[in-house]
Amino acid sequence: MTDDYPNVQPIPANNPELRSWVESADEHGTDFPIQNLPFGVFNRTGDHADKPAVGVAIGDMILDLAKCWNADLFKNTPAQQANLFAHHSCNSLAALGRARVREIRERVSWLLRSDTPTLRDDASLRERCLVPMSEATLETPFEIGDYTDFYASANHAANVGRMFRPDGDPLLPNYKHLPVGYHGRASSIVVSGTPIRRPHGQLKPDDAPPTFGPCRLLDHELEIGCFIASGNERGTRIDVNDAPGHVFGIVLVNDWSARDVQKWEYVPLGPFNAKNFGTTISPWVVTLDALAPYRRPLPARPAGDPAPLPYLSPDPKSEAEAMGLEIQLEVFLESAQMRERKFDPVRISHSSGMDLYWTFAQMIAHHTSTGCNLRPGDLLASGTVSGVNEDERGCMLELTWRGQNPVQLPTGEERKFLADGDRLVIKGHCCKEGAVRIGFGECSGMVTPAE
Ligand code: CA
Repeated sequence: MTDDYPNVQPIPANNPELRSWVESADEHGTDFPIQNLPFGVFNRTGDHADKPAVGVAIGDMILDLAKCWNADLFKNTPAQQANLFAHHSCNSLAALGRARVREIRERVSWLLRSDTPTLRDDASLRERCLVPMSEATLETPFEIGDYTDFYASANHAANVGRMFRPDGDPLLPNYKHLPVGYHGRASSIVVSGTPIRRPHGQLKPDDAPPTFGPCRLLDHELEIGCFIASGNERGTRIDVNDAPGHVFGIVLVNDWSARDVQKWEYVPLGPFNAKNFGTTISPWVVTLDALAPYRRPLPARPAGDPAPLPYLSPDPKSEAEAMGLEIQLEVFLESAQMRERKFDPVRISHSSGMDLYWTFAQMIAHHTSTGCNLRPGDLLASGTVSGVNEDERGCMLELTWRGQNPVQLPTGEERKFLADGDRLVIKGHCCKEGAVRIGFGECSGMVTPAE
């Protein structure tokens, strides 16, 4: 697909013919075949406990890049000089820039492919460098300096508009001219599996004064997030055509939201406490290079929509044009009762990265259009990704239409919003003819009661 876009270089590590000597990487349905190689940060547990390090997921194992570096396996790569992997984050790695990270990913691919004996045939080295995922815990992959959340799905924005402004145009006048966003809170971004405590907040009933208490309308938001590799100097802009060169990779995001708090507080400056108590991300960052087979332009805008201004319009046939991401996204819910009675989590919605109106290239160009500096490890999230159909809505607010049509669970329970004990799981994967299926792992979190 991306062969049509001259600036997307052929990527040897994506060759569908490659096989790994790590057997679980070849298993049908794995999220982490050798064509994926996402980066993350892990801790060994148990007898082998050690400092956190940067690793790559391969099948059900983690390749410890810090240990590989110690064994001289990154000679003649951009990581030769210093062990960038003996860190508790991918920030130093990302700061090398996307092109150099590509070279490192190529080396990792070579080390793991079935015909490379270096690790395959050296039991002691393999033992040092390869960690079963079951013997590790995962951390947030980056030390996130800044986090920005956009609102890039027109389906989501229009649904919310229809609910709250039934008499007007569902989209506000700026929506089709610029990627709307707000500056979020980086300190409360947590890795998948971290419990989310129901927040307190100021709640305002329609016909009574505000009160303070536990949020009653707790919601999830299905999003994808983009980690920045190399940033830009303050006072300079990132051209939309250059934006893909600044992308490290993509994760799944759940932007937990307190709808009742949000409704009262958001005027006139936008979300604040409704969004700052926890944002969950998946632990493995799938590089933009791994996504190359799954990138294409977003569908043409509907007739009558304005063309983006020139600074938001990539050159035709440029890599930046091919920033639509064919990522299949799914949301699962599991209540405490379902867990007790051994029901599987139930899928409550699904959508696609192609359901966005704006690409991350446009978001980056717009974010930096003032000269605002992005830094390695900054996170830009897409906003709730909703498709056009009713079962493609990316949050409970939309899915239940403000609680009017509750979600039915197999136990007979129903949900208008999230209850204590609910575990919400977001999954994502890419698959198509002629390419190997790759996945994102999981972005999950359980709601615990307010304190
Ligand atoms: Ca959001």
